[in-house]
Amino acid sequence: MLTIDFDFRNQIIQSDIGKTLVYCYQCATCSGACPVAQVTNGRYNPRRLILTSLLGLKEKIFGAENSFEIWGCTVCDTCDELCPQKVELTEIFTILKNISVERGEAPDHYTMQASTILENGKAIPMQSAIERRREQLGLPKIVNPDINEVKKLLKATELEKKIPKQEK
Ligand code: SF4
Ligand code: SF4
Repeated sequence: MLTIDFDFRNQIIQSDIGKTLVYCYQCATCSGACPVAQVTNGRYNPRRLILTSLLGLKEKIFGAENSFEIWGCTVCDTCDELCPQKVELTEIFTILKNISVERGEAPDHYTMQASTILENGKAIPMQSAIERRREQLGLPKIVNPDINEVKKLLKATELEKKIPKQEK
């Protein structure tokens, strides 16, 4: 039997952006337009995720077996733009992703990418092959970010505590 988790439901509804959740009338415009829903034959479904969030069905959303329910979203924002009720879907999904990270359930490729940004100040560290190619193409040199500045900002968000340490 499914359990309604009212604390979880309220956590979303009582947040600034999450309160738009209650305006959803399940028209399915979002899932009809979602590119991920289309290529996964509905295995990923934003309408369903909004419904389970609205109903507080936490066990249908979290847990390793449900990872794709949340992390399938590519944040393309198509659903936000089309929702007739102005439900802030991607922002609500960000709340869910943050909870998933806190639970230690974020997919490895996300946490690895977060570690890379923490260590290098960007997602894809510069490589000499790329620099050479840019030079051949007459493209300007890439200005590297101030890594200390990026680290300082990310430490303020406590990112380090939320991502598992990567093996060197
Ligand atoms: S488009 Fe908006 S109102 Fe329609 S199901 Fe999706 S979130 Fe709900
Ligand atoms: S933002 Fe996510 S849920 Fe919305 S249409 Fe894009 S992939 Fe689908």
